[in-house]
Amino acid sequence: MTDAAAGQTTYETDEPVLYRVADGVAWISMNRPQFNNAQNSQMTYALDDAFRMAVEDDAVKVIVLMGEGKHFSAGHDIGTPGRDVQTSFPRRLLWADHVNKPGAEFLYTREQEVYLGMCRRWRDVQKPTIAMVQGACIAGGLMLAWVCDLIVASDDAFFQDPVVRMGFPGVEYSAHAFELPPRVAKEFLLLGERMSAERAERFGMVNKMVPRGELEATVRAMAAKLVAQPALGMWLTKQAVNHVEDLRGKRSSMDAVFHMHHFAHAQNLLVTGNTLAGQDGRSMASANRSAAEPRQA
Ligand code: ZN
Repeated sequence: MTDAAAGQTTYETDEPVLYRVADGVAWISMNRPQFNNAQNSQMTYALDDAFRMAVEDDAVKVIVLMGEGKHFSAGHDIGTPGRDVQTSFPRRLLWADHVNKPGAEFLYTREQEVYLGMCRRWRDVQKPTIAMVQGACIAGGLMLAWVCDLIVASDDAFFQDPVVRMGFPGVEYSAHAFELPPRVAKEFLLLGERMSAERAERFGMVNKMVPRGELEATVRAMAAKLVAQPALGMWLTKQAVNHVEDLRGKRSSMDAVFHMHHFAHAQNLLVTGNTLAGQDGRSMASANRSAAEPRQA
């Protein structure tokens, strides 16, 4: 099955993202818990709407990005009934629509917008952002945690990018070697194993790890401290650090890896007739489970 020939999309909700504001904090929550917050385009565009609301509301000083249910996000939607890669959405960046594009141009056009483009937009919003991560944070889930300025994780959280199994050098937003020391990034990608929140905290990928029951209170307290800081000062501060990352090559290396990722999509299409090398959510989840150390789900 090619992506263009994928079956009918059935959305299980018209509210894939929840949004509320309290005490100067916008809480943006992925809301597909029955699919472990797998990200379809419906959710991605709703996330973009939520970020826009938070940015435009002067009463909001801080943004928290979280997920409903047991897991932060199991990644991009590669197999739920709501998978909608062949659906058109009004673009947010100045790209043409992808749905009528042939061959490798289909996903190349789509992912410029929904993955690389959107993630860069969210990373650069002018207000500080905190990712609140519990349970699984896999592949596309990493991208959402990584675009945030701060990451607070519970002790049951784990991080994983197992897409080398599909022939990819990681997901579309290639921050791995900026989030982790290069040798650890290679291990993370080559073995595709789970990294515990505890280990991620040791490398500075996670700011703070707390018991599961204290996660929300910890994030709330951190957000309240940020609310007390001056808005412009925080904007300049995050820009200052993002600028250093970009001078270290983050933006240009992401561009380079994005093209490697799409070479792999095209190779998959040529060799297997499927841009994901025939993998879907179910086959990846079962391989991920067998690759993981034994743990209670
Ligand atoms: Zn891709």
